[in-house]
Amino acid sequence: MEKVKIAIIGAGPAGIASAIEAKANNIEPVVVLEKGETVCSTIVKFYKPGKRVDANYREKDIKPIGICSFETETKEEFLKRIEDWINKWKLDIRLNSEVTEIRKTDEEYEIFVKDKPEYLAEFVIIAIGIFGKPNKPSYSIPEELKNKVFFEPPLEIPENKKILVVGGGNTAAEVACCLCEVNDVYLSYRRPQFFRINEINLKNLEEKEKQGKLKLLMATDIEKIEPYNEKVRVYFKDGKEDFYDLIYYCLGGTTPESFLRRIGINFDEKGNPLIDEFFETNLPKIFLVGDIAFKQGSIMKAFNSAHIVIKRIKEKYLST
Ligand SMILES: Cc1cc2nc3c(=O)[nH]c(=O)nc-3n(C[C@H](O)[C@H](O)[C@H](O)COP(=O)(O)OP(=O)(O)OC[C@H]3O[C@@H](n4cnc5c(N)ncnc54)[C@H](O)[C@@H]3O)c2cc1C
Repeated sequence: MEKVKIAIIGAGPAGIASAIEAKANNIEPVVVLEKGETVCSTIVKFYKPGKRVDANYREKDIKPIGICSFETETKEEFLKRIEDWINKWKLDIRLNSEVTEIRKTDEEYEIFVKDKPEYLAEFVIIAIGIFGKPNKPSYSIPEELKNKVFFEPPLEIPENKKILVVGGGNTAAEVACCLCEVNDVYLSYRRPQFFRINEINLKNLEEKEKQGKLKLLMATDIEKIEPYNEKVRVYFKDGKEDFYDLIYYCLGGTTPESFLRRIGINFDEKGNPLIDEFFETNLPKIFLVGDIAFKQGSIMKAFNSAHIVIKRIKEKYLST
């Protein structure tokens, strides 16, 4: 088994920022284990080409406190920035390395990649995000609809379709706005008002609605969906029905709870992993950073959590 000081699980913004902060503090060796074929696989997979990557995604003015920071830019610019950082800091990132288990030994943690023990690490930083498992609605999705109903934003934009987007967050807003240029788009949200989306997305939605490019179906809840000829028949809880060619659910992701519980991480009664103010779990020297540590994550929050964790490791465990 390879011995490392810190094993970072996941090479998204949080994992990469953690590796950079560690390097900057001369903590070595650090290895970043990424299950995908690329770094930042959430961004590569879920962001459409040219997407605006907002620096203030959910809240206004989150100030960067560590080394990693960015201004609002496109997906491609952001990914280039990450690539440049990886080269500049000479990060050791191992792709195609899905971590399946972490076990405590006397002094260290054994890290299992694809069920084989491969690394022994003193510290473990878990940065696996929440998008491995997109949230799905409570009603079942009939098998026949699998080519018409999606749980990820489209990377290629369909044309001339009647489309229902479901959700009330930034992703739903962005998906609806980009689809509505060449499609007939409806956005269904359970609440009477948006409250989770940022100013730019709210403005865009309102403009598109004014221009008649999309229809907002506020305070609507779906009861069930069924196949109907070549369409999706949607039954709303208020008794209304409509037919769509495609549905995109944008409902966020779920904490990979079973993975964390298997390792031995405790959860509170609301189902959130228990961490202290420095993101340390009940297992000493195992930390959570990025989306997995927040209710409502963002890239800047991921960067900042990485800074706090490395500072904590240094001050609590490595200062002599
Ligand atoms: C469509 C969309 C639009 C968004 N737009 C913005 C925006 O404009 N601005 C903004 O700030 N935020 C935005 N976000 C949110 C932002 O993408 C996340 O907050 C950010 O990616 C969180 O970073 P992370 O490193 O915690 O997790 P992720 O980016 O999800 O990275 C986790 C990484 O861990 C890897 N991984 C998972 N499990 C394992 C495992 N067992 N072993 C090894 N590796 C593993 C994954 O493959 C992935 O590469 C958006 C999200 C979506 C879905």
